Amino acid sequence: MILGILRESGTENRVAMLPGEVSGLNKLGIDVLVEFHAGERAFAADDAYIEAGASMAERKDIILKAEMLLSVNPLVAEDLNSFRQGQVLCSVLNPTENSRWLDAVREKGLSLLALDLVPRTTRAQSMDILSSMATVAGYRAVLEAAVRLPRFFPMFMSAAGTIKPARVLILGAGVAGLQALAVARKLGAVVEVFDVRSAVREEVKSLGGKFVEVEGAKEDAAAGGYAVEQSDEFRKKQQELIQQRAIAADVVISTAQIPGKKAPLLIKGETVGLMKPGSVIVDLAAPSGGNCELTENNRNIIVNRINILGKTDYPSEMSTDASKMFGTNVINLLKILVDKNGNLNLDMEDDIIKGTMAVHMNEYVGQRVKQMLNIN
Ligand code: NAD
Repeated sequence: MILGILRESGTENRVAMLPGEVSGLNKLGIDVLVEFHAGERAFAADDAYIEAGASMAERKDIILKAEMLLSVNPLVAEDLNSFRQGQVLCSVLNPTENSRWLDAVREKGLSLLALDLVPRTTRAQSMDILSSMATVAGYRAVLEAAVRLPRFFPMFMSAAGTIKPARVLILGAGVAGLQALAVARKLGAVVEVFDVRSAVREEVKSLGGKFVEVEGAKEDAAAGGYAVEQSDEFRKKQQELIQQRAIAADVVISTAQIPGKKAPLLIKGETVGLMKPGSVIVDLAAPSGGNCELTENNRNIIVNRINILGKTDYPSEMSTDASKMFGTNVINLLKILVDKNGNLNLDMEDDIIKGTMAVHMNEYVGQRVKQMLNIN
């Protein structure tokens, strides 16, 4: 198979695969074409790709020759006319936001592997791009808060007196929240964590956090480990308790999300008004509506002397390691997409391939993409 790695557009700094990972593709029997300057903003030079066994080419030539086209973000609409039936696109998709693009891809007879739809199963763990990027985001969120906070994170006992440790409140103990907990603890903060899934209680405790629980959360085993929407009564109780804990906190890192839905509103505007001046809220749920009522997606703002960070494209900011993790996840997926000679072999009976494939042969395929787009 010929795999094409395309350059990202807009402000994206990542590349879908770095030269270090490209050399692994040759071992799988895959030939690689990389668009000129694709790795530039992740600090990977064209020469490094050539050394790793790839060839550099113009975008139009790659689209002409490659059977599979790999990118971090969905390809731009202008590329669509150049594709030919049967080609496979592979990128993060975000189906609810890109439903029209996806439909055009389906009509054109292309296949699309949506990397954000990789099933959350043990076998697929090494291919899970959402987990990798959430790890980057959780780590960076703590650092962003720490540099803005006008206080120390750790406790200090010095000749100039004792400084109390910062208090961090984390909302949502998924991959990003648990990573943020681990980093905040390493920096010496006291950390409290909320989640509606009681299953994370032990994980929070083992990382040194205090699990704060609101009784009466709705959980659903059929949601595949994800959270589900909560009742109005629960939401009200939760907002009250969060208000209490947020007032005591110096930093709030919110990560609560429900796949395919708007993020739950956990911090009301009035709660922000009651927080300590100089406090920081990092809202990692900003792209899906935000957990804080005042968050503005893609902007860092200051309201009532509280920093509210809604510009949270941290994986792009940490382009080198984020690209490395992204590429490693893709290689692990490619291992089940090609035969021993490196030829594309899409086994639609394989639960990972079926779940990740958003469209194939003019049809919507994966169960989750159908759910997200309300297709029966
Ligand atoms: P996510 O980004 O969808 O959500 C982040 C967290 O927010 C979740 O823990 C969720 O329970 C929580 N949340 C949602 N609504 C909330 C509310 N109203 N109040 C408080 N918290 C709320 O989650 P994620 O990081 O993608 O992980 C989701 C699940 O998938 C977890 O169970 C995780 O362990 C699991 N997972 C499995 C694999 C695997 O097996 N391959 C990989 C990664 C994650």
